[in-house]
Amino acid sequence: MINGTWNGFRELVLVDKSEVCPGIISFYFKSKDGGKLAKHTAGQFLPFKIKTDNPKYKDVIRTYSLSMFPNDELYRISVKKIDGGLISTYLHENLNIGDSIEAMIPTGLFTINNGSKNIPLVLISAGIGITPLLSMLYEESATRNNIQFIQAVQNSSIHPFKEDIDAIAKSRGIKNTIFYSNPLENDKLGIDYDYTGYVSKEYLKDNVDLNSDFYFCGPPPFMKALENSLLELGVPSDRIHYELFSNN
Ligand SMILES: Cc1cc2nc3c(=O)[nH]c(=O)nc-3n(C[C@H](O)[C@H](O)[C@H](O)COP(=O)(O)OP(=O)(O)OC[C@H]3O[C@@H](n4cnc5c(N)ncnc54)[C@H](O)[C@@H]3O)c2cc1C
Repeated sequence: MINGTWNGFRELVLVDKSEVCPGIISFYFKSKDGGKLAKHTAGQFLPFKIKTDNPKYKDVIRTYSLSMFPNDELYRISVKKIDGGLISTYLHENLNIGDSIEAMIPTGLFTINNGSKNIPLVLISAGIGITPLLSMLYEESATRNNIQFIQAVQNSSIHPFKEDIDAIAKSRGIKNTIFYSNPLENDKLGIDYDYTGYVSKEYLKDNVDLNSDFYFCGPPPFMKALENSLLELGVPSDRIHYELFSNN
């Protein structure tokens, strides 16, 4: 094993588990053999299967974006429980500290084009699509602050990683904008969130540097609308990058 890399499957052990917000749990894994892990590139995901003899779960592979600062000690994934979802439900309800998964090495092409540090970066997420964007924010904010971060969620009851993002944005002088599509009565516009509704073409036109590199992740209709808006606003397609959370 060189630099923590591996071929095939490697056993990782769950060392911590914590609720991010209702319906989303973060899972922290270390290698079972005590060796270093492969440092992922922000935006990549971890494909794995549960280590079990139960035929219902055995050999079922799912992929989850790594949601932490890239490192070679500890992986974090953050999983939304899907109604009727086989593996997300198993992870939420049955995977306990000390249990193992069998993971492939992190992979994926949804990563920042690092030839372009001088080009502003716009990171946009909706819902659980926050996970790869958060890892990108951790990594990129360490070396630059020409980043605009936009997070769309329903309301404050399911607003993952709000404090973490606020802290990075404040410490690095990064513009952080929050959209609530369905604010609660107690959610205060201008304090808890910045805009009601969805990330619209008009918003992008008036508030975002269109000469940026755009990276986004969220439900398919959100990404289609965003891609169409950016293209209509004249953003070249090679500046538009997104990840689909679909295994099909
Ligand atoms: C590259 C990539 C990265 C991903 N990263 C994350 C991540 O960071 N966090 C995370 O929570 N998930 C992530 N996913 C989604 C994850 O891999 C699973 O698809 C999801 O957890 C559902 O798996 P399941 O076994 O629970 O549901 P399944 O048993 O596969 O599906 C059960 C039902 O849910 C529907 N369904 C399947 N997937 C979804 C979905 N994503 N949204 C809504 N309904 C769905 C199916 O149509 C089916 O009706 C990612 C997917 C990909 C491809």
